[in-house]
Amino acid sequence: MTEPSPPSRPARSRIPGSGLAKGLAVTLRTMTRKTVTEHYPDVLPELPPRSRGVIGLFEENCTVCMLCARECPDWCIYIDSHKETVPPASPGGRERSRNVLDRFAIDFALCMYCGICIEVCPFDALFWSPEFEYAETDIRDLTHERDKLREWMWTVPAPPALDPAAEEPKELAAARKAADRLAAGAQPAAGRDAPPAARGSGQGPAPSEEGPGTPTSEEPPEGAS
Ligand code: SF4
Ligand code: SF4
Repeated sequence: MTEPSPPSRPARSRIPGSGLAKGLAVTLRTMTRKTVTEHYPDVLPELPPRSRGVIGLFEENCTVCMLCARECPDWCIYIDSHKETVPPASPGGRERSRNVLDRFAIDFALCMYCGICIEVCPFDALFWSPEFEYAETDIRDLTHERDKLREWMWTVPAPPALDPAAEEPKELAAARKAADRLAAGAQPAAGRDAPPAARGSGQGPAPSEEGPGTPTSEEPPEGAS
């Protein structure tokens, strides 16, 4: 059985040249609008200061706590480390152990630029850089090892200036106190000046002057390999 053919459209009367006029009107409208085209790569785009281009690693601050690798939703941070024993700082003291970084790599072929690793790092070892020109023809080259990640640190913009009305950060106050103590010729650790009875008074250890960025720790963080 053959299907009925669709009804033919009624012929519309057209003004000759109306299509041409419409086309020219579109052209004129577009010519007078502000262009949004970026002339990349001849002209580099002006990116917002907090652009997420690539991640830089400030290795000195990394304590190999593994938090970033554990929290990364894509499992694209690879960290290897080993433990080293540090001799006691004073005779009769306890030996300490510290984690030494062997490998730190990020696979940017997997990374989704969520920024979780940077947010969770407790020691300010990871930073966003706006640099984005690192396309590769081989996907394996998108895994950036620690040397490459360290190089990206040179492209991390300086942080915005502090609010002059803000309270002084406690880290600055602590650093100034430590510098004053050193200048006055005091021992680096305040507890060493205290009499032995005071040392065992159960009031907790004297505050460390090494700061949060020092990888040495008495109790190695959970999960460090
Ligand atoms: S930005 Fe997100 S996906 Fe990329 S390495 Fe960090 S946590 Fe993983
Ligand atoms: S210190 Fe920061 S960068 Fe280093 S392992 Fe821990 S979370 Fe990651």
